Amino acid sequence: MQDALPTTWFDGLSPQGLAVSVTLAQGQLLVQGDGLERTYALPSVRWPEKSRHGPRLCDLPDGSSLQHANAAQWDEWFERQGFRPSWVVATTLSWRAVMASVLGIAVIAAAAWRWGIPAASEWVAPQIPLPLQQRIGSQALEQIQGLWLKPTAIGSDEQARLRDRFGQMTQAAQTPEQRLHLQPPVPWRLHFYKAPALGANAFALPGGDVVLTDGMVELLRDQPDALMGVLAHELGHVEHHHGMQMVVKTSLLSALVGAVIGDAGSFLTAIPMLLATQGYSRDAEREADEAAALFLHRNHIHPRVMAVLFERLRKQAKDKSKDSGTSVQDVLPIGLASHPSDAQRIAFFTNWQP
Ligand SMILES: [Zn+2]
Repeated sequence: MQDALPTTWFDGLSPQGLAVSVTLAQGQLLVQGDGLERTYALPSVRWPEKSRHGPRLCDLPDGSSLQHANAAQWDEWFERQGFRPSWVVATTLSWRAVMASVLGIAVIAAAAWRWGIPAASEWVAPQIPLPLQQRIGSQALEQIQGLWLKPTAIGSDEQARLRDRFGQMTQAAQTPEQRLHLQPPVPWRLHFYKAPALGANAFALPGGDVVLTDGMVELLRDQPDALMGVLAHELGHVEHHHGMQMVVKTSLLSALVGAVIGDAGSFLTAIPMLLATQGYSRDAEREADEAAALFLHRNHIHPRVMAVLFERLRKQAKDKSKDSGTSVQDVLPIGLASHPSDAQRIAFFTNWQP
């Protein structure tokens, strides 16, 4: 015996309703009236929300609808059919469900932040075309230049010597894949700047802009191998796309916040500043140190030559904080003088084995 409900059907065009009877059978809604017989799959039907008052309005996928003035009668009929249209309808009346949804969104957002976004950034960063990476890098360099960099006092002869030696060493340190042109070489452009605020420092930006401060050149003038190690560390950041990962991660976070809160803001203009104010993670620093060690090793230099850099940086930081009370480490977090601790890094380079 079929449980039919007499009700009114509107075709979605004319304001004139048609008397029909509706039944549910075999996963379908059957609408029958004078000269009309239509069936709809149940999931395609938008059932009326069970609010307390008002007529029941049921949207059908072809643009037509059912309208039933007697809400109690519709609800009784509907309940007799013994199924729930979907959890959404059932939960809209409950504030507990609303709270649960809000909590659910927060949990998903937190999970995305904790696991999804870092993983996605690691995957996305290397896919970004080099010209775009270089544009982002050079914009960031401009920003940093305006804040902290002045023309270098290092003579052009010395600059050329350092550039040549680093170029030869990157050739020697190429992987077999790079030598066979199966993999592109890591791009780099070496810049020299005087930067009193940054002290002895070096940093790298997406796309391969690497900056050495005059302070760093002076600090390691008698330790040319260690200076090459510093450059190799920076090249390691480029090779592993650490700067780009930071940009992508913050972009995705900003998109996520935008999706939840509804305003992503003018994020793109903030990218250069982001690179100047955020630091690489501890893991990124370790990866760059590993790259530096391998680079030196492939050039037949033991990575322990790097120990002197951290000893001198530590001494310099001590002297400097005695003078001014501030630390150069706070100025540019992507710079060299940052975590992990000097002692850990000295141990890493001293005990490094291929
Ligand atoms: Zn670094």
